[in-house]
Amino acid sequence: MSSTTYTIDHFAEILHAKTFIPQPNLIISRLVIDSRTVIDPESSLFFALQGKRDGHQYIKEAYENGIRSFVISEEQYFGAFPEANMLLVENVSQALQTIAIAHRNQFDLKVLAITGSNGKTIVKEWLYQLLAADYNIVRSPKSFNSQIGVPLSVWNIQKDHTLGIFEAGISKENEMDALQCIIQPTIGILTNIGEAHAEGFSSPKAKLLEKLKLFKDTELFIYSPEYTHGIPAKELPGQTKFSWSLSQTADLHISFIEPIEDKTYIRAIYKGTEIECLIPFSDRASVENGIICWATLLAMGYSATAADARLEKLNKVGMRLELKNGINQCSIIDDSYVADIPSLAIALDFLNLQNQHPKKTLILSDLQETGKNEAVLYAEIADLLKQKNLQRLIGIGPNISSMASLFDLEASFYESTQDFIDHFPAIHFYDETILVKGARKFEFERISKMIAQKVHDTVLEIDLNALAGNLQFYRNKLKPGVKIMAMVKAFSYGSGSFEIANVLQYHKVDYLAVAYTDEGVALRKGGITLPIMVMSPEPSAFDAIIKYKLEPEIYNLDILNSFIKFLPTDTFDYPVHLKIDTGMHRLGFEESELNDLLNTIQNSKKIKVASAFSHLVGSDEVQHDEFTEHQIQRFKSFAQKITDGLGYNLIWHISNTSGISRHPEAQLDMVRLGIGLYGHDGGLNHNKGLQTVAVLKTTITQVKEIKANETVGYGRQGLLPDGGTIATVKIGYADGYTRRFGNGVGKMLVNGQMVPTVGVICMDMCMLDVTGLDVKTGDEVIVFNGKLTIAMLAAQIGTIPYEILTNISQRVKRIYFYE
Ligand SMILES: *Cc1c(COP(=O)(O)O)cnc(C)c1O
Repeated sequence: MSSTTYTIDHFAEILHAKTFIPQPNLIISRLVIDSRTVIDPESSLFFALQGKRDGHQYIKEAYENGIRSFVISEEQYFGAFPEANMLLVENVSQALQTIAIAHRNQFDLKVLAITGSNGKTIVKEWLYQLLAADYNIVRSPKSFNSQIGVPLSVWNIQKDHTLGIFEAGISKENEMDALQCIIQPTIGILTNIGEAHAEGFSSPKAKLLEKLKLFKDTELFIYSPEYTHGIPAKELPGQTKFSWSLSQTADLHISFIEPIEDKTYIRAIYKGTEIECLIPFSDRASVENGIICWATLLAMGYSATAADARLEKLNKVGMRLELKNGINQCSIIDDSYVADIPSLAIALDFLNLQNQHPKKTLILSDLQETGKNEAVLYAEIADLLKQKNLQRLIGIGPNISSMASLFDLEASFYESTQDFIDHFPAIHFYDETILVKGARKFEFERISKMIAQKVHDTVLEIDLNALAGNLQFYRNKLKPGVKIMAMVKAFSYGSGSFEIANVLQYHKVDYLAVAYTDEGVALRKGGITLPIMVMSPEPSAFDAIIKYKLEPEIYNLDILNSFIKFLPTDTFDYPVHLKIDTGMHRLGFEESELNDLLNTIQNSKKIKVASAFSHLVGSDEVQHDEFTEHQIQRFKSFAQKITDGLGYNLIWHISNTSGISRHPEAQLDMVRLGIGLYGHDGGLNHNKGLQTVAVLKTTITQVKEIKANETVGYGRQGLLPDGGTIATVKIGYADGYTRRFGNGVGKMLVNGQMVPTVGVICMDMCMLDVTGLDVKTGDEVIVFNGKLTIAMLAAQIGTIPYEILTNISQRVKRIYFYE
């Protein structure tokens, strides 16, 4: 998005690259590292980065998506596509940084850089809110703070920007110099130094010193001596320094902090006088981040009164997009906190990932950019919407309405949110994915409330980024070329249907597997195009299997024969999957059936075996390792015989989640990844390395005082001998919180405290003993999360995490988060 024009030749020169340039006139305005999120291919330059996945493998796809300019480091691709410009360099990620530096060098603006262990993104977003009235700001999108994220962020600087706010994150020594050269900050902020990411450093002090390199040339440095390991101020960077502290004298010495409802009142000594501010948050992290922003405003010369007035209006940073069900078979993506171009682009990418409805609609408010010409701004948006294939726009606000003529798609405009609400009965929504994106002051939550289905107060929150992270975790364990079949049976282990499959499809797993035909049909109807294996292909559903191009698991001769018979006579090579029994003794062919099996397959041209597989019975437990080895060996001997008999290659697979983590020798051609995706792996020590995907939450409906010797619930089983306080919460056995959790067996988290159930679990509710806690109606209660894990719940009632997840009934609404 640079306004400075670069031709491909410019880049060749900057990079001293070896060139193949069939299209010298292309003007490059976008730097791209992902072949899937391209919006303007002609003007994009693709960097084939060699990270966990080799970007060179995606050159072909990028080329097919219309990209014509590439930076590569592998000679074999040089000139491989006649129409594509190729710049051959030693190191692609360094090339990206070099370009960012060259770009940065053209601008002479104030640049604020933030580093530290926690709070970087919040501080960045808050400073953006606090300073947007005075500057035209360019900032890092999301938490783009890595060796790759920083250059991509800095690339967005344009000539009309007057302030840049960028965050920088490092994970090991000697990474900061490069980021310093790219950002060239004039003002530096160190948020804090915690224990996070300490592994890449020889000591905590080494970590600090590395971080401080970012600020070596700054005019102003803002920090707290609590995080600088006693280094004397004069040895810290920054021509001018501004310190803040809770415990020692500092430029801003915090003297008093008091929570007032959900706000925090803070007093401090500044330039010898007492000043104050009110921050509209009460949690510890927010208070510290708020103080850092306070210090920054003062250090930048704002008066104490002005700083207080602005801090009071801070908004929550809406970092997560929420996907939920809407009225009239719509899906809603809710993002009612910010409206600016970078976050709009991100939200539109997420919108694009949704395949479940034929139509995509955006409800957008006036943008909150400042200092930019309106016509240019909205023309840029119109362009963005066109590139993202949006079908319908609803614009709300005087500015966007006045630019109506710029938008070349189905569009309607309203002067205000109220105006839209007044017209709502006449506006039709049906079978669409609707992105609701508005600046804070437009209060778009009023709109999402009208179009989203009312969520009953017990919800299962699914973190799609964590799911993608877990996929990557297992991918990193695979040998090159090993495929992944993602198990999405039983409503993706309780997590969802197309919502999960969309993410897996986007992240390019090779296969999906479901238990029943219906589940596969639902995925096809949700726009999923990946191959899908059906593990229990009941003959009554063969029709649907064929109609929706699903691939049956064949586990005995009966199924094989009836499927072949069912297939229309002109069918050729319909893909099927053979299940081999190596010890589970559930479904699958035995050695003795091999001859019949091979004969039947050879005699039919209608089918072709796409893969053959078996299932490990104890891959997560050391005690079964010998049997696992035996299963693998048996499977390999089957494989030999089947391959010889069929005379063609197929995909062989036996590993499930714990097989991947514990038995690398069993990866074969493909693995079947199930529960690990959803954040649990019995083969890992306390799920080390996995992220929590699902959080089950409910709320308190009533709080009651109970006298001594009274009982609680059915059958008078809940006894509080000394009396106490109970809270009734909205989850019961019909939601999947089984009766086995009753009478103190189950625990939940209320305001961070673990409390037991009292009495039996009812159908729709249950009671908790909250004696001595400060709780009220409406408080949130955690049934499980990353702290109170599904493994702990499983242990409480003597089952396995799989059952905990899949028990959660469909009545519990799922909400999906994406950052
Ligand atoms: C469910 C299932 C898996 C996945 O197992 P996880 O332990 O969840 O990874 C793999 N293969 C088959 C045949 C399955 O039924």
